Amino acid sequence: MPHTLDPDLRRALAERVRYCHEMGIYDFYRREARTFESATVESSVAAFDDPSSTSHEQREEMAAKKSAAVAKVDAENILEVLTPKPEHGVADPVAALKLIREDLGDCTRCKLHKQGRKQIVFGVGNPRADLMFVGEGPGADEDAQGEPFVGRAGQLLNNMIKAMGIRREDVYIANVVKCRPPGNRTPERDECETCSPFLMRQISVIKPKVMVALGAVAAKNLLAMNASMSELRGRFYDFLPTGARSSDPSWQGTKLAVTYHPAFLLRDPRQKGEAWKDLQMVMKFLGLPVPTNAPK
Ligand code: SF4
Repeated sequence: MPHTLDPDLRRALAERVRYCHEMGIYDFYRREARTFESATVESSVAAFDDPSSTSHEQREEMAAKKSAAVAKVDAENILEVLTPKPEHGVADPVAALKLIREDLGDCTRCKLHKQGRKQIVFGVGNPRADLMFVGEGPGADEDAQGEPFVGRAGQLLNNMIKAMGIRREDVYIANVVKCRPPGNRTPERDECETCSPFLMRQISVIKPKVMVALGAVAAKNLLAMNASMSELRGRFYDFLPTGARSSDPSWQGTKLAVTYHPAFLLRDPRQKGEAWKDLQMVMKFLGLPVPTNAPK
């Protein structure tokens, strides 16, 4: 049902959007909510309850909590105050990604810039990839090399990709946050919300057919919902980054699947079979031959 915003709230939201825009943040999650007043804030807060106190294993199997997403606001579009992003209208995805990277610059938009990062880890792979993997954030190896998923977890991801019958350079790999959280802690809500618009813009440029969220943190960020991995896995979600329709009205979005983070699989290899089931689902959707042997 259409919902009219309180004028004061609308002004406050517009001011917030303008502020973000001045910081170079153009895109926002489109979150659903019970009421607009509780919408964007509550749904995003719920996904990050006490992140620093959970291990990777706990994060993967975090108890199900209610999703904050219920009803959609469609009468007011606060995003109309946004101006086009630099990559809008750029047909070549290589050039468009370059513009996003330039816009990111030597980013200091969130506190991760001053917590020991060596460099920004933007993303790597085929700018025209049909398949994109998204993790939560760089670790020590990634921070050192400037490329996502290059450590032991990266090696396992490479094996998973190879088992799918494709090559690492065929896919695109990125993270929700582009700077290493200290001590490999979970990225905090404000860090994810500040950085993820750039991921949304990367997705809008690459336009993958399928995205795979690696782990609970990435899944909850992308889906703006809070649920256990067992609830999140095993199905496709329709996913369209906010702002994508305006940049390309012909692109209807991508399918999003959720599987375990490779770092979690290193700690609990018994779950590799489950992850393989997720990837087989993706292979079937992409029309790839589906081998039966799980990656080691
Ligand atoms: S994590 Fe993202 S928003 Fe934060 S400083 Fe790094 S690039 Fe900027």
